[in-house]
Amino acid sequence: MINQNALDWLSNAFVTERMAHAYVIVGPPRQEGTELVDHLLQLLFCENSENQPCLTCDSCRRALAHKHPDLQWIEPQKKSRIISADQVRTLQQQIYKTAYSADWKICVIVGADRMQKSAGNILLKTLEEPPKNSLFFLLTDSPQFLLPTIRSRCQLVTASTKQQSVHEDWLEPLLKVLTNRAGTGGAITAFARSDQITTLLKGAKSSAMSIEKELAKQENRNETKEVLEARGSSRYRELRTGIMRALMLWYRDILILACGGNDSILYYDDKKSILSERAEKISYSQAIDNINIIEKMTRQFERNMPEGRVLSTGLCKIIG
Ligand SMILES: [Zn+2]
Repeated sequence: MINQNALDWLSNAFVTERMAHAYVIVGPPRQEGTELVDHLLQLLFCENSENQPCLTCDSCRRALAHKHPDLQWIEPQKKSRIISADQVRTLQQQIYKTAYSADWKICVIVGADRMQKSAGNILLKTLEEPPKNSLFFLLTDSPQFLLPTIRSRCQLVTASTKQQSVHEDWLEPLLKVLTNRAGTGGAITAFARSDQITTLLKGAKSSAMSIEKELAKQENRNETKEVLEARGSSRYRELRTGIMRALMLWYRDILILACGGNDSILYYDDKKSILSERAEKISYSQAIDNINIIEKMTRQFERNMPEGRVLSTGLCKIIG
């Protein structure tokens, strides 16, 4: 859910003309991050003098479609999944031009942590001497991957009320596995689910590796295979920790429901009905066991125990 306090705070900064030049919006970039920025874009671009944003004027509509002439919107390239120096250079050229129709020139960088270093350095130069009435929104769920010099020039805003568990690229497939109703007795068996989660982690690993390879290639870094692999596995471990956290939150929700707890505190509140179904089928002690199993696996990962063994002995024991 979008963080209303953050939106109010930013809206107030706009009304009182105290906007900073650049913000890092922390949260799922394509969900709450974009949602928050969309609200702001409409507010900043709206042509109506009252009740901004009106949501109906031409500028509001263009802002929402990310097609406003004074808006630069960039995202990681589809194939390489990174933001190149060329993309940021184009953005930089545009921002120094006079605004077409609005009072603002706004740049939105979705997945800003995916900027290659040279791209980050170009952006840094712009942030050091921002043109008048320019505004930058850097959307990311991993602000720790931004250049520290960029981070220090931006105000940090949290877009979501929920603490994020894992990058949205992986949350969706994980939830697909967890909410699967197929299989005997209406619920997927523990073994099938274990297989699917293992496959998902394999996918996360190869994606982490290929992102690091691509970054090294684009930045002309001449690194040994070992260094690259170390970078890839550190990126992967971060993803794996997130996936385990997301898994833990799922079974925590089932536990809350299994012991008759308040369903208003569920993490996956949009999955209430399927969570209730699962909670009805297991006992309170089974629900507790599930949490213990996941905690144990997380500790084993932290101690660098062989991943295959941790997964095969842990995941199959989860019930419900
Ligand atoms: Zn409007």
